[in-house]
Amino acid sequence: AGPDPDLPLVAERLRNVRHRLLILSGKGGVGKSTFTSQLAFALASDEDTEVGVVDIDICGPSLPLIMGCADEEMHRSSNGWSPVYVRDNLSLVSIGFMLPSDEAAVIWRGPKKNGMIKQFLKDVDWAGSADGGRIDYLLVDTPPGTSDEHLSIVQLLKGTITGAVIVTTPQEVALQDVRKEIDFCRKAGVPILGVVENMSGFVCPSCHGESRIFYPTSGGARALCDELGLPLLGSIPLDPRIGRACDAGSSFLDTCADSPAAQAYADIIVQL
Ligand code: ADP
Repeated sequence: AGPDPDLPLVAERLRNVRHRLLILSGKGGVGKSTFTSQLAFALASDEDTEVGVVDIDICGPSLPLIMGCADEEMHRSSNGWSPVYVRDNLSLVSIGFMLPSDEAAVIWRGPKKNGMIKQFLKDVDWAGSADGGRIDYLLVDTPPGTSDEHLSIVQLLKGTITGAVIVTTPQEVALQDVRKEIDFCRKAGVPILGVVENMSGFVCPSCHGESRIFYPTSGGARALCDELGLPLLGSIPLDPRIGRACDAGSSFLDTCADSPAAQAYADIIVQL
């Protein structure tokens, strides 16, 4: 097959998008979407920064819920679809806004998922970019692993991805899959900004002290990063308040600034 004739349309639509970050994980449930949402809230806390989030987890969209806008819908205008605005400067596109109910399953093969992802980039009026608006950060939340969705996004954003952040937990089973993610990025020519270790310890709800529950049995993400020559961007402990903030669709960093997890998030975000 020849080059995709829609690629110039995607490039045109995204011409005013500066940084394009992929958020990846080898396994599900490691906290990738949580990280994406909190990163988005944190970047958008500067009101001069325009942030867009694309949820390309077509079969398991969770961002509408954890960003507190599950009941919204995407609307069409003469410039294409409008994203859902979570804040004035924070917008989200997700298939979750198009499903008839929260329980509705999306049972699609690769080509149909690819078509949807292409529409998310080509047909969405990102921050009015058609009229000279801009996006400073476009965060792409991906499904776990390396599947159709990953191939699509890499092809559609060909050569323009600023970098990938890989989220993992400290256990060896998760780290094994991180190696595959790293291999994918290297083969696909996607720069890796670094690895985030999530759930690396536990913050006690009563004393707010942190226990490293998975250590010292494994070297965790630090050893993996050292071995592969990648930056470890930081380690975020488990804090039950993160789950609560996400279920309520709110920014954990705003509501629990005193948590060691919030500090870890903040330290990571300044590196991106
Ligand atoms: P993924 O996107 O990798 O599948 P999620 O972001 O949906 O994972 O996170 C899975 C669950 O773990 C969610 O309920 C989320 O609230 C919770 N979670 C993620 N990170 C933390 C953390 N550091 N502390 C406490 N709960 C967390």
